[in-house]
This record gives sequence, C-alpha cells and structure tokens, in this order.
Amino acid sequence: IIEEPPKISFAREKLLEEAKKALDAEGRNNKKNVSLVVIGHVDAGKSTLMGRLLYELGRLDEKTRIANERGSNKAGKGSFSWAWSLDGTTEERERGITMDIALQSMVTPHRQITILDAPGHKDFIPNMISGASQADCALLVVDATTGEFEAGFNRGGQTREHILLVRSLGVSQVIVAVNKLDQTNWDKSRYDEICDFLRPFLTQSGYHSSKTKFVPVSAMQGVNLATREGDDGKVLRSWYDGPSLVDCLDQLEPPTRDIYAPLRIPISNVFKGQGSGVAVSGRLCGGVVQVGDRLRVLPGDETAIVKTIDFEEENVSWAIAGSNVTIYLTAIDPVHLNIGSVLCYPNELVPLATIFTARVIVFDIQIPITTGTSVELFHHSRDVPATIANLIATIDRATGDIVKKKPRVLTKGISAEVQLSLRTTSLSGPSVVRPIPLEPFSVNKDMGRILLRRGGETIGAGIVLEIFG
Ligand code: GDP
Repeated sequence: IIEEPPKISFAREKLLEEAKKALDAEGRNNKKNVSLVVIGHVDAGKSTLMGRLLYELGRLDEKTRIANERGSNKAGKGSFSWAWSLDGTTEERERGITMDIALQSMVTPHRQITILDAPGHKDFIPNMISGASQADCALLVVDATTGEFEAGFNRGGQTREHILLVRSLGVSQVIVAVNKLDQTNWDKSRYDEICDFLRPFLTQSGYHSSKTKFVPVSAMQGVNLATREGDDGKVLRSWYDGPSLVDCLDQLEPPTRDIYAPLRIPISNVFKGQGSGVAVSGRLCGGVVQVGDRLRVLPGDETAIVKTIDFEEENVSWAIAGSNVTIYLTAIDPVHLNIGSVLCYPNELVPLATIFTARVIVFDIQIPITTGTSVELFHHSRDVPATIANLIATIDRATGDIVKKKPRVLTKGISAEVQLSLRTTSLSGPSVVRPIPLEPFSVNKDMGRILLRRGGETIGAGIVLEIFG
C-alpha cells in the first residue's frame, strides 16, 4: 500500500511568517522553551533528582510512583525508586543506571523544558555528548557528602570532564544542584565550600558568572526542589533564603533561533516501529520544518517525507530552530536513517566533509598530540575515526593571533589550528572514507562544533573552520 503523503499547509514564505510570529510571541502557552541536559558524576543523584522533580511538578502520578517503588523494591534497589521515571527500558532498570537519552519534558511557571537526560556511567560519555549537543542549559548535580564531591571532581571523576564537555558543545548556562545536603545535616559551611571551589573552575571553563547558579537541595527528601520546604527543609531555611531549583529553572534563557538559516536536523535517535513506521529525534539546528516537507537525508541519496512532528509531547504542524523534536517519516526505507545523519531541504544541502581544518583547545592530557595522532571525532551523535593530519599553528586564546607556525606537538591547555582527516571505518573491503555532514562554525554554530577523544578520554574540543572535501 502506498500511503498518501501529507499535504503541506504553508508555502515557504508563509511558513516563515508564521514562525516569526511565534518567535515574537512568548512561545506556546506563554511559556518559553528551553532544553536541559543533566550532568554529573555517577551516583551524584541525577536520576533521583529528576524523578522527584517530575513528581513534584505533577509530571509523574502517584500510581506510577508506587508501581515504580514496588518494582524497585523487588529488584532490591529500594532507594532507586524516585529514579525510575527517567529510566525507561528493562535493561536500564536491571542495571540501575540510566543509559539512553530520553526526551521528557517539564513545565515551570514560565518555561517548558525538554529534558535530555545524560548518564553518568564512565562508558556512556558518547551519550552525554549526544545529549549536550542538543541542549541549551545544563543542570549539574554534585554529591555534597564528605569525600564524595571530591571523588567526583578529581581525576577519574566525571564532574570536571562533564563541565568542560558541555561548555565546549555550546551550552553556556549552568545550574549546580548541591545534592544530598541531608547527609551533611544541612551544613552551610559544606555548601559554601563546594560553591567556592566550583565557581572559579566554572569561570575558567568559560561559563559567565551571571549564567551560573548554585542551589542547595536534597533530591531524596525533596527539599528546595519545587518548593523551599520539603520534608526536612527547616534547617536549610535557617541559613538559606535564595531560590529553589524550580525558581532557577524558571529563569533559564531560551536559545537564539535562526529560523532563516537552512534547515539542519542532525539525527540523535532512530526509532524503528512495526511495519513501515520510522521516527527520528533531534534538534533543529537552523530553519523551520513542517508536515508534508520532503527532506534529503545526508550522507546518501535518499529523501523522506515528514508525516508528523512531535514537540514537547504534542503533535505540531511545524517546528522552528532550537526545538528538540521527534519526526515520523514516510516514503523512505528505515535502513537509510542513521544516527548522525542530517536532514535538510533538497535545495539547501549540508556540506559533506572528509578533510577540514578546526580550531581546537587541548584538554588536560598527558600524552601530547602530534601529527598523525589517531582520534575519535565526535559531531552531534556521531563518532568516526579521524587523524590529526597537520598541526598548522598554535594560537593565542585571548587575541586569536598565531603564536607559532607548524608546532611539533600540542600539549595541555594549548589552542591550535589543525587539519583533520577522516579515516576509513571498515577493516575489510574497499577502504573508502565516508564523509560526514559538517558545517563551518562561522556558517552555523550548532553544526560547527566537534570533540576529539582518544582511548576513552576527551583530549580536545573545537570549531570547524574550513571544509576541503
Ligand atoms: P545518578 O547515578 O546520578 O543518577 O544517581 P542516583 O539518582 O541513582 O542516586 C545514587 C544514590 O544516591 C541512590 O542510592 C540514591 O537513593 C541516593 N541519593 C540521591 N539523592 C539523595 C539525597 O538527596 N540524599 C541522600 N541521602 N541520598 C540520595
């Protein structure tokens, strides 16, 4: 059976007009939309915090909570019960950790927030990168318990790496939830100590102090999440009269939305349903998309037609840049849809790259980078093998001036211009290098950021300068 393709409702110009109107208005239901990635060391309490927050905001009903608690007790992980609202699959439940990026949303008085949950397990940094590359803001959860904050921050801990990664991927706002303060008897000096420690690190990592907020909480007891009180908030109130977590979330700034840019939707997830149904999710990094549009899938020669668009758990007829959406596609064989591919209009194709230059910042590495260093290149939800083919120059980070041409090595903290070339992915068969969709940062900021990893460690982050082919 050949399905009748859905009709588009607006001609291109009219669609942009409608999008502009929506942009000028506050957003739907008078709420601005922002997306949030939750980061922090494993066991800091991310899932517990989000589960409890969703419950307090009425996004998780009592029945579901009790069902989760029962299931959780049966599995012998009683204290995890709050966490379940984000942990969808059985596999995750059995392992007691959050594995995938699940699109959920919550509503505060002035914001509609898409949650991109990021797992804290060390192996899952690639998922974290995928989540963060789609986010406007980060919620960093740290464990205030004696020794635990330190363990999460020092070498081997994920707090530091997450903070750097997320900033490198363009997220400039961060809320730090200092969690488990119940464990410290609500010790003010411990809270202050953690804030004083993190503040300069966040500044050095590129977060402006006006976009950095700290908030003392207990996820488990529900203190200072949606309301100041909670079960055990009295001691906290004796020394804290600042905002609750929800107050902070309610002030997050929405992204800039370039609706006039060419449409770019990097695919972060593919859901293959029964029969012919296929859906993809991702963030619109420019442009406007509507139901009925025919889109090109790059790399490749295929096109697909947009059947429906889901945004913030609602069916919408079109969506604009900066939105995280799930799109149902027809007129395409699902085998052609891959994580990391980019959807665009057939007349505004995204460039494909195998060789390009980038400006990178080298992270805290022990083995220096030299010409020929093999790396894993991360771009949105895709990672491919690549080689640092050429060290062009080291750059003064403050002025952007060239410090030294053709340096021999790059060491920690250095900023440099390098040439990267993709390597072949197949070990057998013809060694063709498959290009990836990429765009210079100067053309589209959201499409022009990359991360470099080596042996499971992030060694640098950068922006794409020029694509050579
Ligand atoms: P995640 O790995 O960051 O998602 O951490 P979880 O949400 O799974 O929490 C790790 C552990 O810390 C679980 O046993 C939670 O019950 C516990 N926990 C989380 N938040 C709190 C809190 O505010 N107070 C206390 N005492 N324990 C907490």
